[in-house]
Amino acid sequence: MDMFEKIREHEQVVFCNDEETGLKAIIAIHNTTLGPALGGCRMRPYKSVEEALEDVLRLSKGMTYKCAASDVDFGGGKAVIIGDPQKDKNPELFRAFGQFVESLNGRFYTGTDMGTTPEDFIYALKETNCIVGVDEEYGGSGDSSVPTAMGVIYGLQITNKTVWGTEDLGARSYAIQGLGKVGVKVAERLMDEGAELYIADINQHAIDDLVSRANEKGVAIKVVSGDEIYSVDADVFVPCAIGGIINDDTVEQLKVKAVVGSANNQLLDTRHGKRLHERGILYAPDYIVNAGGLIQVADELYEPNKERVLQKTRTIYNSLQRIYAQAEKEGITSEEAANRYCENLIQTRSRRNSFFSHMKRPKWSVRT
Ligand code: NAD
Repeated sequence: MDMFEKIREHEQVVFCNDEETGLKAIIAIHNTTLGPALGGCRMRPYKSVEEALEDVLRLSKGMTYKCAASDVDFGGGKAVIIGDPQKDKNPELFRAFGQFVESLNGRFYTGTDMGTTPEDFIYALKETNCIVGVDEEYGGSGDSSVPTAMGVIYGLQITNKTVWGTEDLGARSYAIQGLGKVGVKVAERLMDEGAELYIADINQHAIDDLVSRANEKGVAIKVVSGDEIYSVDADVFVPCAIGGIINDDTVEQLKVKAVVGSANNQLLDTRHGKRLHERGILYAPDYIVNAGGLIQVADELYEPNKERVLQKTRTIYNSLQRIYAQAEKEGITSEEAANRYCENLIQTRSRRNSFFSHMKRPKWSVRT
């Protein structure tokens, strides 16, 4: 494998090895034009180093786009730890990981992702300040599902306006997949607005909880099975559970006019975004809609402030509005328009950076 060819688009890739704790991790810094790299740390029993490298390169590039779109002063990065989160975790391993993060001297900030929890990073925090998303007792901002859910609501408002000419949330019906931390908050807000809801979750408790709250409010919601949620007669599909749910099987079943949700990587493949476009279904790119969590952890470094985070989350509305307009003008999918929108933002900023290169740039105004 020509490693430099493989990491061609990335600024730096660090292999972290600590025999004593068993730590095997890779940190990838994709692009720091907008600021130090920011991205979660995933722990998975990858089958090979190649698979882990593939994942971290792809995810860190995605973070560059997500940070650009959210207007946070960070670039894209990500880390992966090779190991089984059920068996291989121990405090020393996360301390060792923290030391590797610290060695990057503020070029990379990280926190939880799939397979890791805020508690794991309390140990990393002993070694470096470049950790975000820990609990409030440790100086972090805690659960990020509130701004994430708000981002989905803003996404629904601008999508409704684009498709039906009015933001009115209550005037539409929604098929919500997943009633976890984000989905339940979105569902409650839509219920309060008087919207018609179809819901599905693999967890019966999550369904029962929401149904009993709907009964208290005197609102009727329709519970459907995991398979039925794709084909119900709703206006908008709201995926808030898992990725890859827009695929060959489901894309033809959808009767909705739009897809707006928090789940990561909703499109199994780019061609499924094209198919949605051909079928006249407006897709709100997931990494734009679900940026509320990122906005919160990025903001945390300036000192936690929930109000400011919610205010910043409103930029999701404006970003989506621009993306939809660009997609319409150029006859491209909203996913392509989102990517171009982010690439333009990075290019513009990069020109500004070089314009001022004769000046001493201030140190990144983040916690040190
Ligand atoms: P969560 O784990 O709290 O909730 C997920 C819910 O989906 C659970 O109730 C689970 O039972 C349900 N579920 C799982 N598989 C399902 C299936 N096949 N069909 C129906 N329901 C299913 O997660 P969350 O924090 O609410 O996040 C939801 C999604 O949004 C995830 O994809 C997550 O990666 C993404 N996201 C979350 C945040 C955040 O701040 N929490 C930020 C960005 C993106």
